[in-house]
Amino acid sequence: MTAEIISGTEIRKEILAEIKQEVEEMKEKVGKVPGLVTILVGKSPASVSYVTLKVKTALSVGFNEIQDDQPEDISEADLLALIDKYNNDENIHGILVQLPLPKHIDDKKVLNAINPDKDVDAFHPVNVGRLMIGGDEVRFLPCTPAGIQEMIVRSGTETSGAEVVVVGRSNIVGKPIAMMMAQKGVGANSTVTIVHTRTKDLAAHCKRADILIVAAGVPDLVKPEWIKPGATVIDVGVNRVGMNEATGKAILKGDVDYDRAKEIAGKITPVPGGVGPMTIAMLMKNTLTSAKKTLGLE
Ligand code: NAP
Repeated sequence: MTAEIISGTEIRKEILAEIKQEVEEMKEKVGKVPGLVTILVGKSPASVSYVTLKVKTALSVGFNEIQDDQPEDISEADLLALIDKYNNDENIHGILVQLPLPKHIDDKKVLNAINPDKDVDAFHPVNVGRLMIGGDEVRFLPCTPAGIQEMIVRSGTETSGAEVVVVGRSNIVGKPIAMMMAQKGVGANSTVTIVHTRTKDLAAHCKRADILIVAAGVPDLVKPEWIKPGATVIDVGVNRVGMNEATGKAILKGDVDYDRAKEIAGKITPVPGGVGPMTIAMLMKNTLTSAKKTLGLE
C-alpha cells in the first residue's frame, strides 16, 4: 500500500484563498480589512526572511500589513511602549514580534505585554490557558498545532475515538496539539498519549497510534515498523541533514523515515511541503478571526 500524501502546500493554498474571499466580503460589508503589524528588531538574516514571508502572505490575502522595523539597540522600555501603541490601535487586530530578540530585551516580558486578544501567535499565557479550557473560551490556537489539526481534518481522518500518539512535549508543538486533540469537538475527541525521551517503549506506543504526530527534531526517529498499517502520520520535524551543492540549499528531512513509512501508513505528510507551509496560513487565519471578533462579524 502506498499512503495518500497530505500536502501542506496544497492545503495552504486552499486556506489562503478562503481567507482572501472573507477579507473581500468584510471590505464590502464594513469597509475594513484585518490589520496585522510585524515588529522586527535588528537585521538577522533568518528573522528578515521569516518576516518578509509573513508580510508577503498578509498582503496577498488583502490585509493591511504594517512592517515595523526597529534598530537592534532599541531599549526594552521603547519596545514595550511600541506594543502598547499597537494594543490601543483599533485598526490593528494582530501583533507579531519576531523572535529571537536581542539579549538586552526580555522576550517573555515583551510577549506578555501583547493584548491577548491581538496575540495571533497564541503564545500569551492567557491564550495557553484558554486552549486548556477549550470550547468557546478559545480565541486563537497556536499556529503550528492549528495547522496540524487542519491537515488531519482536511485529509478526512476520523479523530473521534482515535488513538493519537504525540512524540514530543514542547510548549509550541507537542503539548498544545495533544491538548487540542483531546478536547471535545470537531477534529478532536481523541484518546491521546504524549511520549518523550523518558518514555520506556517508544515503539510500542507509536504502534498503537491511529494518528501519529511526531515533533521531536530527530531525523528518521520513527521507523516504518513502528507505524500501524493505515495510520495517519503527521511529521512535524524539520532537520537540516546536509547541503545540496547544486542549489546551495539545505537538505531537509523529517522525524519519520518517509520513504519506507509511506508504504505502511494510510496518509502521511512529506518534509518539506507538509506541516511547514501551514504555520503562516494559520497565522493569517488567526488575524482574520481577531478582526471578525473586533468588528462584530462573528
Ligand atoms: P523541542 O522543543 O526540541 O522538543 C522536542 C521534543 O521531542 C521534546 O519533548 C523531547 O523530549 C522529544 N524528543 C526528542 N528526542 C526524542 C527521542 N529520541 N525520543 C522521544 N522523544 C524525543 O522541539 P519543537 O520545538 O517541538 O520542534 C520539534 C521539531 O518540529 C523540530 O524539528 C522543529 O524544527 C520542528 N518544527 C516545525 C515547525 C513547522 O514546520 N512549522 C514548527 C515548530 C517546530 P524531552 O522533553 O524529554 O526532551
